[in-house]
Amino acid sequence: MEKVIIVRYCEIHLKGNNRGFFERSFAENMEKALRGIRHEIRKQSGRYLVEGFDEALSEEIVERLSKVFGVHTMSVALSVKSDMDEIFRAVAEVSPSEGTFKVETHRADKKFPLNSMQISAEIGGRLLDYKKGLKVDIHNPQTVIGIDLRENGTSLVFNGLIRGAGGMPVGTAGKGMLLISGGIDSPVAGHMIAKRGMKVECIHFHSYPYTNMQAREKVEELASVLAGYTCGTTLNIVKVTHIQEEIHKKCNGEYMVTLLRRFMMRIAERIAKKSGCQCLITGESLGQVASQTIEGMTSSGSVVESLPILRPLCGFDKNEIIERSRAMGAYEISIRPYEDCCTVFLPRHPVIRPKMADILAEEAKLDVEGLIKEAISSLEVLKL
Ligand code: ATP
Ligand code: MG
Repeated sequence: MEKVIIVRYCEIHLKGNNRGFFERSFAENMEKALRGIRHEIRKQSGRYLVEGFDEALSEEIVERLSKVFGVHTMSVALSVKSDMDEIFRAVAEVSPSEGTFKVETHRADKKFPLNSMQISAEIGGRLLDYKKGLKVDIHNPQTVIGIDLRENGTSLVFNGLIRGAGGMPVGTAGKGMLLISGGIDSPVAGHMIAKRGMKVECIHFHSYPYTNMQAREKVEELASVLAGYTCGTTLNIVKVTHIQEEIHKKCNGEYMVTLLRRFMMRIAERIAKKSGCQCLITGESLGQVASQTIEGMTSSGSVVESLPILRPLCGFDKNEIIERSRAMGAYEISIRPYEDCCTVFLPRHPVIRPKMADILAEEAKLDVEGLIKEAISSLEVLKL
């Protein structure tokens, strides 16, 4: 009896001619997730089998694979010879000692003397005799025991399905640049887009020494959490201290956040293009804070010359975002106190619905191009 893990994938079959590409990306991503653990991944019709690992590590493997997008469900299974006694021994091992159950058999091996109904009935009957606390319930069982008779003369026996992360394999839908702050929203935005199969790189802006080193470490940690779902990521770090000082010195303070955002978007676009990213991604959600009105988005979006801006959180309430942040394991990091550069030199009354003509008039007081070049020269790149 060998422990194996069955991995079933989702949506991939929808992709017709691209199927091979999707499956290769998916298998590669699983390999990356399992790096450092001895194992083999074998493809079978419509699913993968992870085999040859140290049985004590099965939970760790499931845990790691649960972050791989494209995984629909998983089962920890026992692999045995296709023989009724062997199958029953495995079923007895994976089943609980009480409650209701049913047995579901799938028979790929059409030469096996019993059909799937007969196998389920026979094994279910033996289990009832063997574990007195169990009862059959066909319609609403607490436990579903799966038996899979494969064509190669072995059978897989498992108790239930573990839900995977869903979505599409990362790397099958291009690459985007996420503007990541230390807040709750942006990591969630990156997670959502990665789930659709996009590779995600990150860019963060800081105003050291006005913002401190803890703020930066926090962003590194958040990007690392995200990297667990995106098969690694790159964190680009750019210093915007001088830009903020210049705005503070020369412009109407009410426009600090509006103007800074426009710088961030311009810089993000340039670095995105250099790294082959095809879009920008932000954690903005409509109307959540003063700077995220549609006027604010129009202002920050209008300086981006040729990339689309994805704002996956636009339609979400804060509560929904928090739920997702918790589920991805970022929330506890995100809520640690820190200073974002947007709160440095924060005016008492930031302009809420900025008018384009006023923004342009304020911006005209600055050497926009020179400040952008200077900020980009501070670029640091971390591989996570
Ligand atoms: P978050 O929780 O992601 O910080 P938020 O609701 O606090 O979002 P803002 O602080 O207004 O909203 O930021 C809106 C978006 O702008 C962020 O989601 C992020 O994409 C981008 N952003 C803000 N500050 C930074 C920063 N310092 N570096 C990179 N991107 C930033
Ligand atoms: Mg924020």
